[in-house]
Amino acid sequence: MAKRSKFSGPDDPRVRRALCIVAHPDDIDFFCAGTVLRLTGRRALVDFVLVTSGDKGSHEPEATSAELAATREREQLAAATVLGAGRVEFLRHPDAEVVESLELRRELVREIRRSRPEVLLTFDPTPGYRQHPDHRAVGRVALDAAWPCARDRLWYPELGAPHETAEAWLFAGTGAGLVVDVRDELEEKIRARLLHRSQTGSPAALRARWRRMAGEEQFVQVDLR
Ligand SMILES: [Zn+2]
Repeated sequence: MAKRSKFSGPDDPRVRRALCIVAHPDDIDFFCAGTVLRLTGRRALVDFVLVTSGDKGSHEPEATSAELAATREREQLAAATVLGAGRVEFLRHPDAEVVESLELRRELVREIRRSRPEVLLTFDPTPGYRQHPDHRAVGRVALDAAWPCARDRLWYPELGAPHETAEAWLFAGTGAGLVVDVRDELEEKIRARLLHRSQTGSPAALRARWRRMAGEEQFVQVDLR
């Protein structure tokens, strides 16, 4: 059988649905928002799944975890609107405590079978020693959920019809098989990122830094077929 060619990137018309699985509010905006904008700009459907609501991501002495989670979910929903996302699902695992578990794998199989993406966007779980533990765990479990669990009918038959995800595009790693030029999307990407106000010290400094650095997004492209 002839090997199907890999997708050329977000402009490839074969990519009609994508699913981003991340650990925290603002991960998508940081790592792949330009690519999401390219997809949604040509009416591909992109759903978001957030494993935690980032309930420990604050240096404010007064903030409680519950308040912070609610704030960050609101911020993520606002940013998702700018990015043109479809469904946004919060799984509400505790921030900074995500581990590889069968429970999480099952939840991610459910989300993959709901969204039925051609492309899964998630963390590269292999970049080395210094990586947020939630990012590493989410990347590993999301990949395990996509291949083979969501694909095979005897895994969790109660969670809907099996689904084969064609590719995973892994960000925050060390490789860059797929490089997406997002300079045309950069101002919208910055606008979405700045909606995460609780995570923004100086909007002007962030804007200046991102205009210098954030015009390109890099992925390891993994064939899951
Ligand atoms: Zn994160």
